[in-house]
Amino acid sequence: MPLQMAPRRRGKPPKHFADLTPAERVASVEAMGEKPFRAKQLATHYFQHFTSDPEQMTDLPATTREAMATTMFPQLIRPTRRLEADGGTTVKTLWHLFDDARVESVLMRYPNRTTLCISSQAGCGMACPFCATGQLGLTRNLSTAEILEQVRAANKSLAAGEIPGGPTRLNNLVFMGMGEPLANPRAVIETVRALVAPQPEGFGMSARNITVSTVGLVPAMRKLADLGIPVTLALSLHAPDDDLRSELVPINTRWSVDEALDAARHYFEVTGRRVSIEYALIKDMNDHGWRADLLGEKLNARGRGWVHVNPIPLNPTPGSIWTASERAVEDEFVARLRGHGIPTTIRDTRGSDIDGACGQLAAEEDDE
Ligand code: SAH
Repeated sequence: MPLQMAPRRRGKPPKHFADLTPAERVASVEAMGEKPFRAKQLATHYFQHFTSDPEQMTDLPATTREAMATTMFPQLIRPTRRLEADGGTTVKTLWHLFDDARVESVLMRYPNRTTLCISSQAGCGMACPFCATGQLGLTRNLSTAEILEQVRAANKSLAAGEIPGGPTRLNNLVFMGMGEPLANPRAVIETVRALVAPQPEGFGMSARNITVSTVGLVPAMRKLADLGIPVTLALSLHAPDDDLRSELVPINTRWSVDEALDAARHYFEVTGRRVSIEYALIKDMNDHGWRADLLGEKLNARGRGWVHVNPIPLNPTPGSIWTASERAVEDEFVARLRGHGIPTTIRDTRGSDIDGACGQLAAEEDDE
């Protein structure tokens, strides 16, 4: 797969209420001949009650409710498949977008928190060979509202008590679904703003509970640091040496391991947020003890207490020649990093039985 920085298809989804800033929401309500305070009512329905259904907006005048809702809330995402695991507490949804592009999101409920993994692009142009989405290529960027709609839908389902364990709400969000979030920076940054804005202007989430995961687009990492919203940054490293990393994460040929790590360290310095290093453990590929040592050394060379490592056993994609590292090898890798004083936690592989992450469902559907 070649690297692709720009999308193949450029059709734009319809404008949606969630694409607008609070001031623009007021302006478009007024443009419809409505009073400005209607914008706040619409925002309350959307960001606080998670609804865009005119029937439920009984505080709006019956005569214009329908027109306002259909103009402001065009349907952007349509669920076409739903897969469950872990007794219904892990739910993966495949969404079709207005132009039939596909993305997926995965909801994971734990005893003390509920996490949603969202997509920021249809497909991905980063071409990482172990990742199912990487094999699809990039279809297009999602709009802000297409990303936020995944969040609203999850919150709605949680509030309605559809997930076992009683009604709850999302408290964790990871940009680890399809796409490279920092290759779609404008929409992702607007999404983050709406996620952290207090209700009813936004979803009122805490920035620290939002993780933006990147292959290491260095200039965009630096811009994210300057945003002033301290989200958690995850860097998908997967190898501490340029030779191997250029194979596993092709963008490494543009920004090297050292450049990506420097940008990660810079992120910590500006935001005070500890950075996560993602490392998919691939049998006999990147799981050697010496690579754990090299990673530990490179991280420590940039200071202490600024980073932690999340190894994750590879979730093999269909047709892949690669498999997950063996348990003993994984344990040794973790022990070596800890030996260097690096906080290290194996990432949970929830939902791997429903092709939990990594674009596998959309890829499978493309094959059908
Ligand atoms: N493009 C972003 C975010 C999406 S992927 C990024 O690369 O960070 C989210 C995480 O899942 C990344 O760390 C990615 O490397 C990892 N990943 C992708 N395919 C995987 C697989 N088959 N097994 C384990 N992790 C995988």
